[in-house]
Amino acid sequence: MIKKTAIISGITGQDGAYLAELLLNKGYKVVGLTRLNYTSDFSGLNYLGIQDKILIYQCDLLNIEQIIQLFEEHQPIEFYNLAAQSSVYQSFVNPVATFQFNTISVFNLLEVIKKLNKDIRFYQASSSEMYGRVNNLPISENSILHPLSPYAISKASAHFTCIYYRESYNMHVSCGILFNHESYLRQNTFFVKKIIIESIKISKGQQKLLYVGNIDIKRDFGYAPKYVEAMYLMLQQEKATDYLICSGKSITLREIIYYIFKKLNISKTACKVSNEFYRPSEIEDMFGNNSKAKLELNWQYDLTVFETLDLLLEEELRNDK
Ligand code: NAP
Repeated sequence: MIKKTAIISGITGQDGAYLAELLLNKGYKVVGLTRLNYTSDFSGLNYLGIQDKILIYQCDLLNIEQIIQLFEEHQPIEFYNLAAQSSVYQSFVNPVATFQFNTISVFNLLEVIKKLNKDIRFYQASSSEMYGRVNNLPISENSILHPLSPYAISKASAHFTCIYYRESYNMHVSCGILFNHESYLRQNTFFVKKIIIESIKISKGQQKLLYVGNIDIKRDFGYAPKYVEAMYLMLQQEKATDYLICSGKSITLREIIYYIFKKLNISKTACKVSNEFYRPSEIEDMFGNNSKAKLELNWQYDLTVFETLDLLLEEELRNDK
């Protein structure tokens, strides 16, 4: 039997790895894109034991000729666009490169799909960061976008690009507007992962203090392996549209630190706030309403942030050598 082909860009990232695992389990042939094979980090795919089940393909999404070749060679039915410069912090350091990659890549992909085969279904990794300065909580799919970082501006621009192609060319383009989601495969520089690995070091006497920035802001955190299920479900719907994927509750970063510290018997005094880690602009609080995704996609999610933290800490300790 011929397998359906799905292409995932950003295959080496956290979401790419979990989504690839899910699609393989559903019987897809998975083609995973990287920018440069020799510098890419395949440890996430290795950790899940799926690297040799995926066809890794090097493709520069800023080069439209390479994208045409990719689509002609692999004839996908679905494309999951997860590749991005995904760090808000890095976007303040490299705003132009972040904007350039995160927006032009989406235009290129949608232009190629429009020209070659409009039946290919497209998923775009949009972000809750696009909402930025919010007036009303919880955020819904209809809330106004007010981005507060170069990353958020790039994601908002890509988001509107997707809506434009969906509405103007009747293409099956869906955006998952995901709030922060975490896993063992998260890069070490992201907040929750950083807190967990550094706290473990403190508990083992390998580090004395944890330095952090503004920890009184509030965020809505969830569990990545469950969030990728929503991406898949979006492309199985007859009608393409956008969905918020979130837990529905926010928590201060301080509460997260103190919860992990308590689990590891660390004194609160080990946490030091440093101005060095403050950002030029910061979102105070955000949490979303996930009822559209639950109702229309039948997406099941009921983990609390503390249950998520328990899962993350357990897995980190299990793998800690
Ligand atoms: P991630 O771990 O940072 O992975 C993104 C992947 O994109 C990287 O592995 C990288 O792989 C690739 N990439 C391609 N071009 C890049 C560039 N110019 N700079 C840096 N990396 C580039 O991201 P993730 O957490 O899996 O998130 C997946 C997508 O969802 C991203 O688009 C992200 O912005 C979005 N998102 C994530 C969250 C979250 O909480 N995780 C929330 C909302 C939205 P190679 O180097 O191998 O090419």
